[in-house]
Amino acid sequence: MVKGWNNYPAVQGKVFRPERIGDLVALIGSNEKSILARGGGTSYGDSSINNGGINVDTRRLNKMLHFDSEQGVLYCQCGVTLQDISRVFIPQGWFLQVTPGTQFATVGGCVATDAHGKNWKAGSFCSFVKGLSLMLQDGSIVCCDDKNNPDIFYSTFGGMGMTGIILDVRIQLRKISSSLIDVETIQCRDLKECFAVQSESMESHEYMFCWLDSHKEGVNMGRGVLQRANHCSNGPPIYKEKRKIHVPFYLPNFTVNTYSVEAFNAAYHASVGKKNRKKAYMMDFFYPLDCIANWYRVYGKRGFLEYQMVVPSDGAYETVFEILKVVTKSKLGSTVAAVKPLLNARGVMSFPMDGFTFAVDFMPDQRLWHLLDTLDEIVIANGGKVYLAKDARVSSKNFRKMYSETLDRWEPVRQKYNPENRFSSMMFNRLYKG
Ligand SMILES: Cc1cc2nc3c(=O)[nH]c(=O)nc-3n(C[C@H](O)[C@H](O)[C@H](O)COP(=O)(O)OP(=O)(O)OC[C@H]3O[C@@H](n4cnc5c(N)ncnc54)[C@H](O)[C@@H]3O)c2cc1C
Repeated sequence: MVKGWNNYPAVQGKVFRPERIGDLVALIGSNEKSILARGGGTSYGDSSINNGGINVDTRRLNKMLHFDSEQGVLYCQCGVTLQDISRVFIPQGWFLQVTPGTQFATVGGCVATDAHGKNWKAGSFCSFVKGLSLMLQDGSIVCCDDKNNPDIFYSTFGGMGMTGIILDVRIQLRKISSSLIDVETIQCRDLKECFAVQSESMESHEYMFCWLDSHKEGVNMGRGVLQRANHCSNGPPIYKEKRKIHVPFYLPNFTVNTYSVEAFNAAYHASVGKKNRKKAYMMDFFYPLDCIANWYRVYGKRGFLEYQMVVPSDGAYETVFEILKVVTKSKLGSTVAAVKPLLNARGVMSFPMDGFTFAVDFMPDQRLWHLLDTLDEIVIANGGKVYLAKDARVSSKNFRKMYSETLDRWEPVRQKYNPENRFSSMMFNRLYKG
């Protein structure tokens, strides 16, 4: 089966695993009409699925090609994972400037989604991409950066694989002198306090993330646990391979239910106390969910959905409040819900804008589709959009409302480089033809 991380949707599909660029040239030269590159498959939804053609799993194109140890610029193939980068470069005192919450994502996937992370101040992954090369639909290779072919360069950031297959990328890493992070955890009684502590922490802390209780209604709606953090300066930077807990099989669909979610949320909120401070190993801080392999299996075979949106800073609190009211009332949210600030990104189709992003996981349920349409309406009315890397269901009509301005700039470039829609995905078909 070909699927995203959340196991929804999961479809039968053909997978091709190239070992070298020549294998891709041969694929492009064949009469396969529809091709889609995928990386770690850690996005949720249908963006990394091509149900009508070939899914190119790029993880064997994983060579580190060059590292400039003076400037910290890494030149690597698209299938290098963030874990590969940590394993090699943390001991040398370098780390990623921006990382999503899983180290199993690939560099190609992080560019195609323009992933964001806990260090909102730095921007998004592509803020540190200095250049890249892509294979186009006729097998030719185009190299691009902000001076050469800037149209395809910026349209590939957040372009979800629709401009071509990203082959290699030059990324700026950052210096670190320790693999420890100084983390402060603060309990917040409601959404207002979550926003207030985030605002107060913006100057003093590089990293920020606030978990929210997706069930609590009434005066404590939006109670949360905020983490704010900075790198420690005392070394040494070391990389430790951690043992993982495995979820060996799919649990019954009912395992994640209203009662188990409410029990977890209450226990987690209480467990942190008012405030605490500790030094954490950086991989545990950045990738807390990676220590449980296949954790999505706790949702059962039907998988789960995540709704992630961003809205402009002005009025963000009110919009998140309105959304949370709908979510808490429904009792369909799961244990994963969060809010954090974002900064505008460079890519034409990039998700981040100056504002706040809110994400919540849902257990699949008949009532969910209507609920999510309601959330779309609130997001559109407030100038926001959903994150395509977490989407499996937004309608073509709503997508065009959310991305209207950017589509006017992106679509001519996509058509120039992918005129026959040779690069295509289930998401693309849904959003364009649906
Ligand atoms: C636990 C967890 C936490 C996460 N936290 C975050 C987070 O904080 N922020 C965030 O932004 N995301 C987050 N994500 C989502 C996901 O990790 C990111 O979107 C990531 O960038 C996807 O990378 P990938 O290699 O898995 O790409 P895939 O999921 O395989 O593909 C994603 C998209 O990229 C395209 N693509 C992949 N490789 C190429 C290539 N070589 N050329 C062209 N197109 C390509 C695919 O076609 C698809 O459209 C999280 C996911 C998990 C499981």
